[in-house]
Amino acid sequence: MKDPKLSWWNYKATTPKTITFIVTKDCQLACKYCYLVAKNTNGRMSLETAKKTVDYILDNPNFFNEKSVSFDFIGGEPFLEIDLIDAICDYIKIELYKRNHPWFNKYTFSFSTNGINYNNEKVQNFIKKNIKHLIIGITIDGTKNKHDLNRIYKNSGKGSYDDVVANIPLWLKQFPQANTKVTLSSEDLPYVCESVLHLFQLGIHYVFMNCVFEDVWKDGDDVVLEEQLIKLADAIIDNELYVNNSCSIFDEKIGKHNIDNKNWCGSGKMMAIDCDGNFYPCNRFVDFSLRDKKPRIIGNINTGIDPNKVKPFLLLDLKTQSSEKCLNCEVSKGCAWCQGENYDSAETDTVYKRSTAICLMHKARVRANNYYWNKLYMHIQKSGKKNSISDNNNDTTVFSQNAC
Ligand code: SF4
Ligand code: SF4
Repeated sequence: MKDPKLSWWNYKATTPKTITFIVTKDCQLACKYCYLVAKNTNGRMSLETAKKTVDYILDNPNFFNEKSVSFDFIGGEPFLEIDLIDAICDYIKIELYKRNHPWFNKYTFSFSTNGINYNNEKVQNFIKKNIKHLIIGITIDGTKNKHDLNRIYKNSGKGSYDDVVANIPLWLKQFPQANTKVTLSSEDLPYVCESVLHLFQLGIHYVFMNCVFEDVWKDGDDVVLEEQLIKLADAIIDNELYVNNSCSIFDEKIGKHNIDNKNWCGSGKMMAIDCDGNFYPCNRFVDFSLRDKKPRIIGNINTGIDPNKVKPFLLLDLKTQSSEKCLNCEVSKGCAWCQGENYDSAETDTVYKRSTAICLMHKARVRANNYYWNKLYMHIQKSGKKNSISDNNNDTTVFSQNAC
């Protein structure tokens, strides 16, 4: 029976619930921008912990009554634990069937991988077995120069580009609509244009791109970003690459005054589970993701979710955490934040203090977007060549629970 005290958990029954299993803390890489500041090889989820989590979720439809679900597997690098993941996914499928659960056939298994083990036999067997329910994103940052600047092996310091790019053709064959996510930090800004063009050339038609939320930006970085994006805009429009490709950094909806009083992401409305069976509002609140703060645990597999610990997250929106400057900002639409970084960078233990380290970078993005869309419309008027690719992947206004 539904407990009215808990009804706020189900904020929007039509949005899939996102459940994130942190199956390992280990990764082959040590990416320089990685927020997992304390990765190690000791933390690994047991199958028993995963099964208890699944049982708790399926036994508590009052907390988890969304119409569909996305089970996300992250690390570290999730495919290092492919045997465990395979066993967890089998257990989920069997339990959904046995319980005649509404999520039966309404689930996805989602992965964000560094791509190094993608062609491994066990990973491939898992993919073939579950392909209709899989979403797999391989992270490749662009050209070899840019990718290898940050995404290096932890033992040798060698760049990982060659090993990842070797697996891209197989990945695109299996998932032709796949996208990749490019994360920008200060050092790789000069490579933005060539990197996006390179990803399009590899056959990746959807490229998501965002600046890191941490305070890493140096004087003049916004100017470099704007120059790079204008160069990219020229290349995309002059060569009509926009017909078959899409880069999320160019989004027509950003750069106006934001009147939408929503939180940016779904932290608190989704749930992450660590290797020990603790529950979190999102994986960014786990101890190994935080620089300066204590983890924010909202429950565990033995005691369940504590509604009082989740509630502060559910009250978050634009107004409750933004300064006057941001609320009055004329270009605020599309200016993002990460709730975990807000918490980590705040002077106190609050989640209600928005970090604005990204401010100048967002404004540079807005200026470049003005250039892009003006130029694109003039070009389309002359050439008549519209874009044929869906922009569904490119929406700044309505975010999935996991907006990062
Ligand atoms: S961080 Fe800067 S760009 Fe973003 S809303 Fe605030 S003032 Fe505007
Ligand atoms: S943006 Fe939100 S969902 Fe993504 S890591 Fe940050 S807190 Fe978590």
